[in-house]
Amino acid sequence: MTNTILDAVMGLAVADAVGVPVEFKSREALILNPVKDMQAYGTYNQPKGTWSDDTSMTLCLVDSLIKGLDYHDIMTKFLKWFSQAAYSAHEEVFDIGNTTRESLNRFTNGIIPLECGGMSEFDNGNGSLMRILPILFYLQTIYGDEFEKNDVAFEIIHNISSLTHRHLRSHIACGIYVCVASKLLKVENIEKAIKAGIDVAMQYYQNNDKYAVEVKHFMRLTDSRFKELNVSKIKSGGYVVDTLEAALWSLFNSNDYKTCVLKAVNLGGDTDTVAAVAGGLAGLKYGYNSIPSEWKTAIAKRDYIENLSNDLYKRLNK
Ligand SMILES: [Mg+2]
Repeated sequence: MTNTILDAVMGLAVADAVGVPVEFKSREALILNPVKDMQAYGTYNQPKGTWSDDTSMTLCLVDSLIKGLDYHDIMTKFLKWFSQAAYSAHEEVFDIGNTTRESLNRFTNGIIPLECGGMSEFDNGNGSLMRILPILFYLQTIYGDEFEKNDVAFEIIHNISSLTHRHLRSHIACGIYVCVASKLLKVENIEKAIKAGIDVAMQYYQNNDKYAVEVKHFMRLTDSRFKELNVSKIKSGGYVVDTLEAALWSLFNSNDYKTCVLKAVNLGGDTDTVAAVAGGLAGLKYGYNSIPSEWKTAIAKRDYIENLSNDLYKRLNK
């Protein structure tokens, strides 16, 4: 049995590190000078292989799930990352989103974990989407391959998002993403897998009174021609809907891990997160061995990431 946790987490971390040096670069600048390989320095002046908050917070979730599902423990680990630079590439936190920072401040002030997340419409950055993927493996273990049929499974996805991002739109983005990840493991044809994941999630949200009003923000994904959209129609900023679309569009329009990640990075804007969100799925689809070995060799704390992923894998498959 392949270690899908290692596939996903390394896929995400490596893609994050490819995006970090060019974060905030415009698409126009990247068209003139596209990223073709993992680079050093750039935006944050970090050495090659440095991953960012996306990977750090994903690792917090991986580490916490080794002991089971405990929202307080997840938040404690997020705080340990932010305040002590635990779970970081080089003992330094060089970026954090505003909504995430505010949620950690609330946690520090004694607010219970599930009420820490921002819930205004402006709290719909990609900060929970970028770290949600490991919950897939927990849900598969507890509820089986067809966890999408279980309301409680969706509630857990939403709760994990709510720790920092409590708006319903962020919940839906995370739900769609985890459903697509699940289908990628079950449906061989990648296009059919992505569509099946979107469909099963959208059915759930359309039939749910609380969420139905928010579904309109995700309708482009249900269009059978979404894949064919011209790149000019794909936004790649920090808005959660844009990030989800950009990541899925990159996955739709590539046939291997490297192409998918470079496509995502070269969209510009929030390059590390769009790449991380796409890279987690590409890692799941194409596998650990498909990630270029020179990129894996360059990645900061490779052994640490792999050991943590292996520990969760062993724990969930016991
Ligand atoms: Mg980042």
